[in-house]
Amino acid sequence: MNGTVDPMVAQADSEFLMHTYGRLPVEFVSGRGATLTDSRGQNYLDFLGGIGAVSLGHCHPAIVAALQNQAAKLWQVGNYYYVQNRNELACDVAELLSYTTDAEGHVTGSTGSAWKVFFANSGAEANEGAIKIARKWGEKTLGGATGIITAQRSFHGRTLATLSATGQAAFHRTFLPMPAGFDAVPLNDLGALRQMIEHPTKLLGAGPCAVMLECVQGEGGVWPATTEYLQGVQELCRQHGLMLIVDEVQTGFYRCGAPFCYQLAGIEPDIVSMAKGIGGGFPMGAVAGRGEAGELLQPGDHGSTFGGNALASAVGRATVETLVNDDIGEHVIQVGQHLAEGLERLPHVVEVRGHGLLRGAQLDSPVASEAVDLGLERGLVLNHIGDSILRFLPPLVVSQKQVDQMLQTLEEILVDLAG
Ligand SMILES: *Cc1c(COP(=O)(O)O)cnc(C)c1O
Repeated sequence: MNGTVDPMVAQADSEFLMHTYGRLPVEFVSGRGATLTDSRGQNYLDFLGGIGAVSLGHCHPAIVAALQNQAAKLWQVGNYYYVQNRNELACDVAELLSYTTDAEGHVTGSTGSAWKVFFANSGAEANEGAIKIARKWGEKTLGGATGIITAQRSFHGRTLATLSATGQAAFHRTFLPMPAGFDAVPLNDLGALRQMIEHPTKLLGAGPCAVMLECVQGEGGVWPATTEYLQGVQELCRQHGLMLIVDEVQTGFYRCGAPFCYQLAGIEPDIVSMAKGIGGGFPMGAVAGRGEAGELLQPGDHGSTFGGNALASAVGRATVETLVNDDIGEHVIQVGQHLAEGLERLPHVVEVRGHGLLRGAQLDSPVASEAVDLGLERGLVLNHIGDSILRFLPPLVVSQKQVDQMLQTLEEILVDLAG
């Protein structure tokens, strides 16, 4: 049977690791594309993709080669020195950020905007950088208004400031006091945002300097912001001189079909954070600023020992260039549509949300976690959020055939569970 783990492995995990995660009973030992193999030699179709990080699939030859090649040359010298791969990766990222797309994600052109990039090691760290840029903006141009308006049900990371930005009180409770200067409004309610900007709450201190949001709330349950909302947010930010920060940690690098999800709505933020997909599973993050937002941080303002080191940059560069050269965006648009249509036809699925290969299926009964357990037994790596949402984040190279295989097994599971 799939989904059983050596008791010694489970015992050592429990003895030596902090219990920050509940684990599913499986130990994966290898992977290729969208498939994983466990310690007993059983194969699985991976629809979680290392929580959205394994953009090119497991062990894609292009990034394995880039890693092996760089690993034998140079890893880390510190950010006092030039690194060619870091320049190239920043250039690639800046180009992707400037693209325009249609509402499906097909690239239509470029805004010609100038973006500058800072490399970090994770999504939370990328968001910390975004917050610091916005606060410097508030200090410089808004008379010290440095509050940041975020969205309820958002997720921005596990460091204290990004937790404070995360609009889910349950995550805060144990770790009070939260860093000050954040308050959250409901997503897709432009009136509530206007009210918060024009009459800021005490939580925002001297007033707002930025609005920070995800175009699709991934961790919150796959809740997309509407195009009208995103355009309205951009308009409000411009009217009031606020920075618009878009957290693309989960949605970036073609996850939603377009290079970045904001492009689907035809907007252009001031600050973009990214991480998950950039290194194909190698830990890396980045924050980018457009125009003046890219010039605000100066020597002494920010840093990272490892951020953008030679090894990470080599892998990131190979990942991003392969995503572009293999036209992964077009593949994501097609297969993502196929996935959404297939999910809509499943029994007990009442709503399918999201874009591209970030999809959420809302179930009519609270069996999502049982579905994940049964999936593992039947060779599927699935993910649930809460009781009744399944989230799908497969490697972007997943094939239509693999999607069909997953859908067939999931259908059997849902019938077994919910009748
Ligand atoms: C995963 C995620 C983060 C946190 O990223 P880490 O690399 O875990 O720090 C932040 N924002 C969003 C939208 C995410 O999905």
